[in-house]
Amino acid sequence: MLASFIARTCSDLWSLLYPQYCAGCTDALQYSENVICTNCRVQLPRTNFKAGTGNQIEKHFWGKVKVESAVAYLQFLKGTEVMHLLHELKYRGNQEVGELLGRMFASEYESSDFFSEVDYIIPVPLHERKLKIRGFNQCDSICKGISEITKLPVLTGGLKRNRFNETQTSKGRFERFTNTADLFSVNSSLLKGKRVLLIDDVITTGSTLEACVNPLNEIGCSVRVAAMASPID
Ligand SMILES: [Zn+2]
Repeated sequence: MLASFIARTCSDLWSLLYPQYCAGCTDALQYSENVICTNCRVQLPRTNFKAGTGNQIEKHFWGKVKVESAVAYLQFLKGTEVMHLLHELKYRGNQEVGELLGRMFASEYESSDFFSEVDYIIPVPLHERKLKIRGFNQCDSICKGISEITKLPVLTGGLKRNRFNETQTSKGRFERFTNTADLFSVNSSLLKGKRVLLIDDVITTGSTLEACVNPLNEIGCSVRVAAMASPID
C-alpha cells in the first residue's frame, strides 16, 4: 500500500517535471496513460469499414488487382489527431504509435474473420536505401502491434521494393500504372499460394498497394489489405 503510494507519487512528480504528451491531440498525458490519451483512443474517427462488403477501399482495387478484402482503420483528415499520429510515427520515428495503432486496429477487427487463415502479415517495404536513410519502416511497428493481438507471424523478407524514390503524386493515372508495374518483386518460394495481409500506414491513391499486390497475384497469393488510415470515405 505504502509502496504503491510512493510509486504513484514519484510517477506524478516525474510527469510534472517531464510531462508526456499525447501523440494525437498533444494534451499532457495523465498517470496511467501511455502514448495516446484515453480521449483520443475513444474519439479517433473510425471508418467502420467492414471487410469483404464492397467498401470504398475494396472498390478502389476493383478492375485493377485481385484483393480478397481491404479495410482502412481510421479516417485521415488534414490537421486532425489522426494526421498528427501518423506524422509522429513516420517523420518523428515514434514506433510506439505504430505498435499501439496496430494493437487497437487488431483488437477491433479480431471478432470479424479478417485475420482468419492468414499465413503472413507483410509490411509494405521501403527500398533498402530509403530504409537506411530513415532508419525504420513505419509499417513494421504497425505489423508488430497487429501480431501481438492476432499471433500471426510478420514476414519482412518476402516482398522487395525495386526502385528508390518514386513520387506518385504529380503523375497522371496511366503513367503511374506503367511506372509501378515492376516496382515490387516477391520471393515466390516463400510466398507461392499463401494468404497474406499487406499493411500500409496510409492509403491515398492506392497505387503503391496495387503495385505490391500485382506480383503477389502472379504467384497465386490470396491478398488482404489494411491501412491504418485513409482519406477515402
Ligand atoms: Zn489525445
